[in-house]
Amino acid sequence: MDKKLELVDLRKQFNAKVVPVKNVSLSVGSGEFLTLLGPSGCGKSTILRLIAGLEQPTSGQVLINGKDVSRLSPGDRNIAMVFQSYALYPHMTVRENIASGLKLRKTPSGEIQTRIQDVTDFLGLHDLMDRKPGQLSGGQRQRVAVARTLVRRPDVFLLDEPLSNLDALLREHVRAELKQLFGTQNTPVVYVTHDQTEAMTLSTRVAVLNNGYLQQLDAPERIYMEPANRFVAGFIGSPQ
Ligand code: ADP
Ligand code: MG
Repeated sequence: MDKKLELVDLRKQFNAKVVPVKNVSLSVGSGEFLTLLGPSGCGKSTILRLIAGLEQPTSGQVLINGKDVSRLSPGDRNIAMVFQSYALYPHMTVRENIASGLKLRKTPSGEIQTRIQDVTDFLGLHDLMDRKPGQLSGGQRQRVAVARTLVRRPDVFLLDEPLSNLDALLREHVRAELKQLFGTQNTPVVYVTHDQTEAMTLSTRVAVLNNGYLQQLDAPERIYMEPANRFVAGFIGSPQ
């Protein structure tokens, strides 16, 4: 089944002054890797939190596979998110961390074992399964966070600056790996970054944001060659 995420006129206002998401509409389909790109504070994480149900919209809707989930709690949406900090449980083993997302959703134990085996094979995590997060490198922790996301088989993947805690060398390696991993899942991906290079190399389409407004939504090459306005041109570093 094709999966689809739609944001319809989505708006979030925290108070009179802070309106980080200003009537954003977009849609992301199966096999698409959409990056939300923009400077710090432009509203990227708030959009992801609205999709995940960690925030409620002031107005507008979040649709998943055509169904309005705007008012559903995070546990009632089949969405998986990788955070900047990875948010692994320090007292649990890798195996338990990967299983944790499924147990919350009352998945039968046979199904849990099959899915964990699949993702362990897929990511080559066999030797790490009994370790705790404190015994892993940054890159290994990142893989476990990805595994915990994949095992859910969600309707949408959300990734919030997942490379920002890695050093430059590892970042490039993991970037290529993320593209490969998530690009083959046939599930919409919404990826957040303030890094133009990441956006340009990973994405099938890029949504450039500034101050809560969607500035341009297009294929990476078009954003670069035909920026919609001065902000986009300046932020991307397009040729003059
Ligand atoms: P980004 O991820 O693009 O850096 P955020 O979505 O985290 O931006 O934040 C956008 C704006 O909303 C910022 O000005 C931030 O301070 C503000 N903000 C985020 N969360 C809250 C909150 N819970 N209450 C008030 N303001 C918030
Ligand atoms: Mg953010």
